[in-house]
Amino acid sequence: MTGVWFRKCLRLHDNAALIQATRESDHVFPFFILDPWFDRSRVGANRYQFLLDSLSDLDEQLRTKYGSRLLVLRGRPESVFQELFEGKGPFRLQALYWEKDSEPYARERDARVEALAARLDVRTRSFAGHTLLDLDTVVASPGYKPPISMRDVLALVTRCGPIAEPQPEPCVPPLEVQGFEVPSIAEFYDELPTSRGFPGGEREALKRLDATCADVEYVCSFEKPKTASTGRPRAPWEPSTTGLSPYFKFGCLSVRTAWSAIAACYRQRAHSQPPQSLHGQLLFREMFYLLGASVPNFDKAVENPMCKQIPWGEDPALLAAWSEGRTGYPFIDALMRQLRTTGYMHHLGRHAVACFLTRGDLWQHWTRGRDVFDKLLLDADWAVNNGNWLWLAGVAPFSAPYFRIYDPCPGPKSSLNAEQAGEFVRHFVPELRAMPDRFIYKPWTAPRAVQERAGCIVGVDYPAPVVDHAAAREANLGRFKAALAAQPGRELPEKFGPRRPGA
Ligand code: FAD
Repeated sequence: MTGVWFRKCLRLHDNAALIQATRESDHVFPFFILDPWFDRSRVGANRYQFLLDSLSDLDEQLRTKYGSRLLVLRGRPESVFQELFEGKGPFRLQALYWEKDSEPYARERDARVEALAARLDVRTRSFAGHTLLDLDTVVASPGYKPPISMRDVLALVTRCGPIAEPQPEPCVPPLEVQGFEVPSIAEFYDELPTSRGFPGGEREALKRLDATCADVEYVCSFEKPKTASTGRPRAPWEPSTTGLSPYFKFGCLSVRTAWSAIAACYRQRAHSQPPQSLHGQLLFREMFYLLGASVPNFDKAVENPMCKQIPWGEDPALLAAWSEGRTGYPFIDALMRQLRTTGYMHHLGRHAVACFLTRGDLWQHWTRGRDVFDKLLLDADWAVNNGNWLWLAGVAPFSAPYFRIYDPCPGPKSSLNAEQAGEFVRHFVPELRAMPDRFIYKPWTAPRAVQERAGCIVGVDYPAPVVDHAAAREANLGRFKAALAAQPGRELPEKFGPRRPGA
């Protein structure tokens, strides 16, 4: 019996582990392990529901197409495997295949499972597939240097040759076994999920990719900085970009499949280029995955060669106001409430709130914001989230200059591309529903009579600003500059190798 351990890669298409298992054996056992490590303290209800949706989708596809199914086992993976390897579970496994996962927790877990399998004489094999390139091969290649720009990533991709074409879905042998069903979220969470915009699952992912690529004009003219941070007109909860990130995060959609579908659009007409283009976005993802796989302590502020040292403040009240959408800055609050209710936020919105929390206004540590995102985002992704927080906090070699600070009250010329009629804010911050357009991003400047007519007195019905932006900006610029002056010329270490479990 050959086991295919689904972790990410929650799909049938372009799934190298599944393909190999079906080539070698007529007895294939597809399963997922609900690991208690990923509990409600780490994962918000919206993302957990997305995961369960994705498991149900996989199970249903395996049943209806092949007479097989997905088994959902529970417990610490090592304990589950001890039983499966010794024949005490629903099957005795002779071989076990999975897709590689480069997150630190996954690497350590997988190393423990490999050691156990070796002791009990079970064959294991892992396959690259969550990224465009095989991270381990690239990082171990002679002369590898962690990429810190789009130019670096493009050079690496060119050196590795063409991106591998996605592989078709294999025919999975039938499997009959009872029990081990996909559970309901009510078993794990008291609160109900609130996100309805992103049903999980491979079929939904492929539908979205098809819909995106059916609009060749959209794909070919895509330039990220021109997309709206406040969603689609009249539907502020809908992304103006592809909205594919949660599907990449869980591997419901293969990044190589997306790359290839976008390339097919590009062959039809002239198109935008990296870094702004859609391929450019996937290359940013690749860059952060490579950094996560090769930079020591990539998720930390200390002993991380990609992180400058800044004496951030520690103010739980400010952090709570930011995280709960109560800063008194309607744009920031609408974005943070969007995150809480839908699990999604546009990239420029993420820029705005991350800058606001760190070097822009509140001077709080980037890892605090990272943790909030890590719990609440549907697409929370260890490498990408850490990489982008390092970027936005202004502490990484790939960061924009620290002195470019976003105004949290975006006007018509702001690079945050926020619509000016205020529909986005009104949707997520209903206290401001009747506030006139011209005061929507600065309600505290509305005369008292206007606030009364709008039924929203600032300081009573909606918070007054937690900090004065202009004053905070000046103070923070001074602090950042002083901190940089105290650590000139920090060089990257000469040698980077693959990060080892526990490193
Ligand atoms: P599109 O613009 O349609 O892009 C297509 C795909 O390209 C995305 O789905 C994503 O996989 C990739 N991509 C796009 N932008 C980036 C980027 N800047 N870095 C890496 N990959 C990118 N993205 C995550 O997937 N997970 C995270 O945890 C995450 N945390 C972030 C934290 C901060 C502070 C910031 C500023 C950005 C973060 N991003 C994260 C990157 C980006 O905001 C999202 O990938 C994007 O908004 C998702 O929407 P989309 O799928 O419509 O993107």
